[in-house]
Amino acid sequence: MKALFIEMPGPSPQIGIREVETPEARSGEVVMEVSAAGLCGHDIAVMTGLLRRGVDYGVIPGHEVAGRVAQVGADVSGLSSGDAVVASLTVFCGECDRCAAGMDYRCRVGRGVGHGVNGGFAEYMRIPARCVTRAPDGMDLTQAALLACPIGVCARAVRSAAGVAGGETVLVTGAGGGLGIHAVQVARALGAQVFAATSSADKLDELERFAPGGVILGGELDFSELALAFTEDQGVDVVIDTVGSAVFRSSVRSLAQYGRIVVLGEVAGGRASLSLTDLMFRDASVHGSTGASLSDIAAAAEMAASGEARPVVHAAMALEDAGEAVRMVTNREVTGRIALVP
Ligand SMILES: [Zn+2]
Ligand SMILES: [Zn+2]
Repeated sequence: MKALFIEMPGPSPQIGIREVETPEARSGEVVMEVSAAGLCGHDIAVMTGLLRRGVDYGVIPGHEVAGRVAQVGADVSGLSSGDAVVASLTVFCGECDRCAAGMDYRCRVGRGVGHGVNGGFAEYMRIPARCVTRAPDGMDLTQAALLACPIGVCARAVRSAAGVAGGETVLVTGAGGGLGIHAVQVARALGAQVFAATSSADKLDELERFAPGGVILGGELDFSELALAFTEDQGVDVVIDTVGSAVFRSSVRSLAQYGRIVVLGEVAGGRASLSLTDLMFRDASVHGSTGASLSDIAAAAEMAASGEARPVVHAAMALEDAGEAVRMVTNREVTGRIALVP
């Protein structure tokens, strides 16, 4: 089968397609025939060398994977050939304390799909049967590729980490990006009033559809002024921050009393600094969140099936065009995700 590899990470990464052996399902596993795999900001960070922690460049990347079961190993029940499935982001053991508590994405011996074990930028991918979720009936599998990441990741951040409740105000930074545009939708599905901050003027119209009346064009400016103006100087209850250090000051300044920031993206790889009194006098808190559990992915699938969270696929592109896709994401020409199709 053909598979994508990162031959040389760097500002203009060298990406190559190689012919490798097609995987076989072992006991407890399935082999998926990959329909599509989303190109995540995380992948870009690995390709450009910004992110090296836990990275094995010998592994096939791609963790946002949907496809059909092509082969079922021994001791697998409940799945058969042709079933439409979505892969979890982590190969988890199913037995440790974290897995038992439903936090499989933080499994003690978990290995990241596309980072520690072979991922989905390939024609086929092998994965334990316990680590897949069924795609909603009839859902286009290019869209289903976005269910675990970014939609499940947003479900985890907005529901579990931020605990967003109906009637709260939520500001999403980087709202035109793959995480942002889905975080906006998840927060709306939970009944929040959502403000979508973006630095891209050309994404305003599209964002207006997802956050009517609440689009903030930040650019290089401090968007907290606008966040305060929108909320009669109260500030927002929650900031879902997909950008990270570059906007952290503005995120803190946008917060209401008892406000929560959940950071789930770091675009620049920089460091944030803040005056701790800005947190203290608001009784505010800052959380980090990455990953999605099986239950988050199931929630994402439900929200997608009901139309509350629509997977936004900017374009489906051939695996061979991954280099061009990387360039487009890096230049912020993309609203939502590009899905790579092997
Ligand atoms: Zn991702
Ligand atoms: Zn485990």
